[in-house]
Amino acid sequence: MHPVTYKTKAYSAASATSPLASTVIPRREPTDRDVQIEILFCGICHSDLHAVRDEWNEFMPTVYPIVPGHEIVGRVTRVGSAVTRYKPGDIAAVGCMVDSDHTCGQCKAGEEQFCPNMVLTYNSPDKHLGGVTYGGYSASIVVDERFVLRVPANLDLAKAAPLLCAGITTYSPMRRAAVGKGKKVGVVGLGGLGHMAVKFGRAFGAHVVVFTTSPHKREDALRLGADETVVSRDANEMKKHVGSFDFIIDTVSADHDINAYLQLLGRDGNLTLVGAPAKPMGIAAFNLLMLRRRLSGSIIGGIAETQEMLDFCGAHNLTADVEVIPIQKVNEAYDRMLKSDVKYRFSIDMASLKSE
Ligand code: NAP
Ligand code: ZN
Repeated sequence: MHPVTYKTKAYSAASATSPLASTVIPRREPTDRDVQIEILFCGICHSDLHAVRDEWNEFMPTVYPIVPGHEIVGRVTRVGSAVTRYKPGDIAAVGCMVDSDHTCGQCKAGEEQFCPNMVLTYNSPDKHLGGVTYGGYSASIVVDERFVLRVPANLDLAKAAPLLCAGITTYSPMRRAAVGKGKKVGVVGLGGLGHMAVKFGRAFGAHVVVFTTSPHKREDALRLGADETVVSRDANEMKKHVGSFDFIIDTVSADHDINAYLQLLGRDGNLTLVGAPAKPMGIAAFNLLMLRRRLSGSIIGGIAETQEMLDFCGAHNLTADVEVIPIQKVNEAYDRMLKSDVKYRFSIDMASLKSE
């Protein structure tokens, strides 16, 4: 069977060393359960850069051409006949996943991100069209209603887009660790994920300490809600916090020494990795044995939890700090993101794609 498709504008990369460039991609015509969304804004996640440059080759090799983007906010343009929750004109959002099998234990537990048949928004086998899925650096997308989310009406859409990945990725492990009043929480790396972790830590009532390699970010960290800042390259500053943290979230995208942070955990303290550097890390056993410390990981969150996070952000008027760019500046934005030169997330204004 050949599904009916239509064409939509997008930006794609042809290889690990190619820049992103204008293209046209097919999308399926909405089937019964599908929602078609005109994309208004799409955040730029560091995962987009890892994937475009095939940095996770050993774990999930990139299939080219790749259309990245999984922080998607837009307007519903059409819905299939069986769609009940969305109608044309609604504001809707899509995050890192567009499908799962809905039958496995993970799906039943609301943890679709662990479903063995989960379909990522880009670079996953596309069961409708063959090839791989194409993400949000595009004019429109068609997604199963069950993977479409609602954006609270009070949130600015350009600033809300990053919630779909940076938001849920930090909200989920912080909630699970019961981050709140009386807890000392560390945030390692003040980038897209890190700045959301600071905002959530503050909103949950915890004492938040930011670890940064960029001394010029200190002031911003405090403005975003941190109680203290530490320049992680300064051994004396680090020493003051040894054995004192309940929870640390590590959002660093590049190779770094996590032993320096394990030592900062107190008894039964938990360091959760959400950053995904390509290379394996070395861990000194005694940093875990002493004080019964724990090292864990977390990846995005389930659909229900993502909606819970969006609703929490609506209730607390909480969004990302963004620099809005036209899609034509996406390659420059990647270079700047690598230099930590963004406050604190790029959000692509997809109207710019119309001139391509
Ligand atoms: P980002 O905006 O580039 O932020 C990363 C931050 O890490 C930088 O701002 C910088 O903070 C710090 N950093 C960068 N290079 C460093 C180095 N060499 N040593 C120490 N610190 C360094 O990236 P992001 O979008 O927040 O993503 C961060 C990581 O999380 C990426 O690996 C991404 O793929 C991953 N991710 C994971 C999930 C998940 O579900 N687990 C979801 C989304 C993203 P300072 O300037 O403050 O030091
Ligand atoms: Zn992401």
